[in-house]
Amino acid sequence: MEFHSLEYWRRLASEYRSESRLFIDGDYQAAAGEAVFSKEDPTTRAVLARVARGGKADVDRAVAAAREVFERGDWSRAAPSVRKAVLLRLADLLEQHHEELALLETLDTGKPIRHSLRDDIPGAWRAIRWYAEAIDKVYGEVAPTGEGDLALITREPIGVVAAVVPWNFPLLLACWKLGPALAAGNSVVLKPSEKSPLTALRLAGLAQQAGLPDGVLNVIPGFGDEAGQALSRHMDVDVMTFTGSTRTAKQLLKDAGESNMKRVWLEAGGKSANIVFADCPDLRKAAAATAAGIFYNQGEVCIAGSRLLVEQSIADTFIELLKEEAQQWQPADPLDPATVQGVLIDTDHAEKVRKFITEGVARGNSLALDGRDGPYPAAVGPTIFAGIDPQDPLFHEEIFGPVLVVACFKDEAEALALANNSDYGLGAAVWTQNLSRAHRMSRRLKAGSVFVNNYNDGDMTVPFGGYKQSGNGRDKSLHALEKFTELKTTWITLESYHD
Ligand code: NAD
Repeated sequence: MEFHSLEYWRRLASEYRSESRLFIDGDYQAAAGEAVFSKEDPTTRAVLARVARGGKADVDRAVAAAREVFERGDWSRAAPSVRKAVLLRLADLLEQHHEELALLETLDTGKPIRHSLRDDIPGAWRAIRWYAEAIDKVYGEVAPTGEGDLALITREPIGVVAAVVPWNFPLLLACWKLGPALAAGNSVVLKPSEKSPLTALRLAGLAQQAGLPDGVLNVIPGFGDEAGQALSRHMDVDVMTFTGSTRTAKQLLKDAGESNMKRVWLEAGGKSANIVFADCPDLRKAAAATAAGIFYNQGEVCIAGSRLLVEQSIADTFIELLKEEAQQWQPADPLDPATVQGVLIDTDHAEKVRKFITEGVARGNSLALDGRDGPYPAAVGPTIFAGIDPQDPLFHEEIFGPVLVVACFKDEAEALALANNSDYGLGAAVWTQNLSRAHRMSRRLKAGSVFVNNYNDGDMTVPFGGYKQSGNGRDKSLHALEKFTELKTTWITLESYHD
């Protein structure tokens, strides 16, 4: 992969004009009343685009188009091999537009171009390709009933899916939803975050070019309390698949209950525990993974290892190693291919993160590393609070920035109690050479993913999602298809030959 130079990306950025209209029924178009909002580059504060501001009228049109094509069956009843071919073409197109999409993602979010190129965009096309390849290999079942009956268990597409996604991995998370939802035969209305709409808008055109029938994928950029709410309260949306904050997730459950009881799948917040025992196989490696686990993507990662729990006897040594590793994660220009930490999504969010730090200090917590002074208004550097009291709000609240809190434990029981002392349950890591301990901890940790001697390994084959207030359902793997299909049973009475 070619990372190019800062000058290369700056030139491309200065020449690029992004798509800013919403996409309904195969057409890019303005929002009702020509409503728009300004989308800024969080690094330079320059306006990137005046983006169509989707509202209820636009959502109604998108849902109607999605419903019409679903009932007509152009996609929903197409053979799996046909859907597969179209989605494979879409994956190829995403791959062919690798640099363009990476540039858009970096300009929109402030994440390093290095990571957009290496992680976000390849992750997006891999998700689409994986479900394309899977869909003609999923079989139904025949139930073990008595001899007089035949009971078939099949899976059917549900109908119209609303996919509402956040700004931290905009295209990647959209594709984790679109892959299984589209492969299964549904129609989708995608609402990207108002803070990162650009790659989703580009994706719509590529999907059309790949041969996706009009109406099967619609993209409505806009705000949560406008386009988002119109989707979550819509009477003709069958499924809401969401990634975002726990606060919004709770609202979506309420909206579903007050509207049509649509199925609601939630991937929400986290405050994941990264637990380092004194018998960790390699402290240097664990320190490097711990730093990446909290500082990667500016700490704007749902599964960030934001709580480090370290055994008392190695705490001082480990924190020193961690401070050394943190030096690599200093914020810099996101368009420079050497940069590994860019800027936060906007200045408001950076201010929020700084406020968490300042208030934590005011309560008497001590900083081992202070990243409040960044090179840009939206930049916050690696920050570490050592010796945190588990009662302190910093131990519980999702900061969603490069801020690590450290607490010490004496033994396995205390480590487990501290780790599970959270409303969230997305991920947890255990660093130990003791196999029995690794399994014991894994069984008792209340988290959707447990990592042993790594932080946040992942693959399309493996489900991703949370316990407790981190959500329900799982993205990725064949299990994600369960969210976008209804289980149908068909009973057939077999007449006896001898009657
Ligand atoms: P958010 O909840 O503010 O917004 C997410 C999306 O929901 C956006 O598109 C937003 O416009 C929309 N939205 C907001 N209010 C809405 C409403 N009332 N009705 C319908 N839609 C609404 O979250 P965010 O700030 O964009 O993202 C950060 C959060 O996402 C963090 O909490 C993070 O942990 C979480 N996240 C979770 C995962 C996961 O897989 N569990 C992955 C990434 C991010």
